[in-house]
Amino acid sequence: MSTVAGPHVETNPWEAQAARFELAARKLNLDPSLWKILSMPAREITVHIPVQMDDGRIELFTGYRVQHSMARGPAKGGIRYAPEVNLDEVRALAAWMTWKCAVVDIPFGGAKGGIICDPKTMSQHELERMTRRFTAELIEVLGPEKDVPAPDMNTNEQTMAWMMDTYSMHMRQTVTAVVTGKPVSIGGSRGRREATGRGVMLVTLQAVKKLGLMPWNTRVVVQGFGNVGSYAALLLHEQGFLVTGIAEWNCGLHNAHGIDVKKLFEYKTANGTIEGFPEAEPADHHELLVSDCDVLVPAAMENQITTQNAGKLKAKILVEGANGPTTAAADDILQDKGVFIIPDILANAGGVTTSYFEWVQDRQGYFWKEAFVNSELEHMMTSAFAEVIRYAESHNVNNRIAAYMLAIDRVAETIKTRGIYA
Ligand code: NAD
Repeated sequence: MSTVAGPHVETNPWEAQAARFELAARKLNLDPSLWKILSMPAREITVHIPVQMDDGRIELFTGYRVQHSMARGPAKGGIRYAPEVNLDEVRALAAWMTWKCAVVDIPFGGAKGGIICDPKTMSQHELERMTRRFTAELIEVLGPEKDVPAPDMNTNEQTMAWMMDTYSMHMRQTVTAVVTGKPVSIGGSRGRREATGRGVMLVTLQAVKKLGLMPWNTRVVVQGFGNVGSYAALLLHEQGFLVTGIAEWNCGLHNAHGIDVKKLFEYKTANGTIEGFPEAEPADHHELLVSDCDVLVPAAMENQITTQNAGKLKAKILVEGANGPTTAAADDILQDKGVFIIPDILANAGGVTTSYFEWVQDRQGYFWKEAFVNSELEHMMTSAFAEVIRYAESHNVNNRIAAYMLAIDRVAETIKTRGIYA
């Protein structure tokens, strides 16, 4: 059966999310009331915030916070800064957070936020003022028991530090648990920075084991060398995988014998780009996605694998480090090709799982050793992988629909048990 729900589904993330939700809900025979509730976000907030630029001008920025569900606990989800942020994208990302938190069985609902801006053209002072004003505008809806943001595209530990400080100033006390992904020095968790990439590595290891492959002869191509992609590549390299290609937005690298990712990491830190890395050949960044490899890890942004290139993909395993990198229409093509997909709501859940650990540590006021964080993460990611595979096999569906079914089942059960206040 086709997963395509409408004409715009190919590149509209909200429609892509809805297409998978409907398919899974139908398979689950989901109660119609729960279907209605879960098919729309619970709350959507749009703000237009004035920000003083360095030259004294006032610029107006539009930002969003969408809370899809708070049934299982406080809403949880990142904040992204990008020129193309829009409400449908934020809605989709918020729903994906609900499903993701349920797949790994942590007590959070789903949310997402973003500001339409071009952070590459803004100074640190401008970004700080914009972040603080955005936080102040959302002060009533944020909080450790309400909604807990985290970093996403073009936001980082510093952004979370500004958000935590602004929220704390308004509350007249330090509230570390209001955001996660903070610097360790102000209540962040050890291991959080690498956590999404570590989760990608952990589920890739499980998939490789399941398909009878060995890391040392498994070739991996990673798209995006930001937070998720760089740590995924580094940790896969450390596990003995051959990272043969890295694609960035403007360039790509290839080395059939495997890129020394540790050296590439140092090169990027020193030069701010992967371009010109001497121990790999330059490669076309679009072609790398469809180049000869065993594992493809899209870890940049949504809509990268579409009907335009899905048919040409050579990878046996697709590990979705990014959110929504594969369109719903491309899913059908990949299914026909027999590609083993580890869907985003499982593959990149390592970040939010460690964010959960951070929130727990902040509330306890007791901080864990990194080895403990990593071993708890390994336990949760491998259990979630096994659960998704069990669902896929027992319901005879692909891994993506299995992950949605598992998640929807868990969220629906919570709503049913709490009762609907209607
Ligand atoms: P980031 O901003 O740190 O990195 C993104 C990287 O992708 C950058 O290096 C950028 O140059 C590159 N990029 C952008 N467009 C590209 C393109 N068209 N082709 C190739 N490379 C491109 O962001 P991130 O935090 O690593 O997030 C990446 C993805 O992972 C997003 O979809 C995000 O929602 C998802 N994600 C992030 C986390 C997290 O903990 N950071 C957790 C779960 C999911």
